[in-house]
Amino acid sequence: MNAPLIDPFARAITYLRVSVTDRCDFRCVYCMSENMTFLPKKELLTLEELDRLCSSFIGLGVEKLRITGGEPLVRRDIMTFFHGMSRHLEAGTLKELTLTTNGSQLERFASDLYAAGVRRVNVSLDTLDDDKFAQITRWGRLPQVLRGIDAAQAAGLRVKLNAVALKGFNEDELPKITQWCAARDIDLTWIEVMPMGDIGNEDRLGQYWSLSDVRAAYESAYTLRDLDERTGGPARYIRLEETGQKIGFITPLSHNFCESCNRVRITCTGEIFLCLGQEDAADLRAPLRAHPHDNAPLEAAIRDAISHKPKGHDFDYSRQQLDGQMPRHMSHTGG
Ligand code: SAM
Ligand code: SF4
Repeated sequence: MNAPLIDPFARAITYLRVSVTDRCDFRCVYCMSENMTFLPKKELLTLEELDRLCSSFIGLGVEKLRITGGEPLVRRDIMTFFHGMSRHLEAGTLKELTLTTNGSQLERFASDLYAAGVRRVNVSLDTLDDDKFAQITRWGRLPQVLRGIDAAQAAGLRVKLNAVALKGFNEDELPKITQWCAARDIDLTWIEVMPMGDIGNEDRLGQYWSLSDVRAAYESAYTLRDLDERTGGPARYIRLEETGQKIGFITPLSHNFCESCNRVRITCTGEIFLCLGQEDAADLRAPLRAHPHDNAPLEAAIRDAISHKPKGHDFDYSRQQLDGQMPRHMSHTGG
């Protein structure tokens, strides 16, 4: 067995998030501008390269793999990749294969995902109102996503809903979204909007709704119990005593939980990003392509990258300016 991946701050890297495309069938206002330029196909890792790369990480101790994008389910033949990864699940080296999706293609792919060994999916959904959904995603339509969620549950997938907390947009929907999730046995996590990429004329500070305020909104309606559950990421959980529901908060801005970070991210071009909020990155595509039959240079590049993982990020809204603003879009690293 290879030595596991340990970063300079003694954190074991066991979680890999991989963006398989920069493209998307939606244009969420906090994520993309309406006129995005996407990468030429030759820049992207092929499905075979993605397989080799992920398999190398699994050989180095990664136990959890999350596929994201862009919208991962719009990548052509992506199910071939999922089915390929299921061999690591069967071998027991990979403990979890999962994805984050906007839900638009779930109706088509839910059963196939289950067959490939996926058991949980995160669906991003910020509103249950048809018009607001069309407004926030620009190109998305709510009924299609709701049918996707139904299909996922019918296929046996556990669904978690991720909602970006947006001031003046979905504040008033908190009770409705919470009850909707409770009725369907769907876990719910709120995400703070992060300063990622040029999104055109949207006002990011105007969008920012602190999760401390979201928590306060819950406190006024429910009895909250803090849960100890940790996933090595920035999520913290509470339980609503009245409904028994678990609610997550992803608060990279108002709180900083980097000390327990166990993850790295790969872009669809094979760049490894060591921290969502920092520029530290390395190219893994070059060693992949230069040595198609020898994984040693790739593994050496992975180890070298991990040895440069920074301690944490520098996002800061506290001075009411976008300190720590990242030039890349969230769809580049997949969130
Ligand atoms: N297309 C898929 C989806 O929407 O789930 C996967 C990729 S998307 C970039 C991953 C997550 O990032 C989504 O939950 C989305 O809401 C979130 N996201 C995008 N831009 C964001 C931003 N600026 N701040 C916070 N979350 C953001
Ligand atoms: Fe697409 Fe997801 Fe970004 Fe929305 S958040 S534009 S669905 S990648």
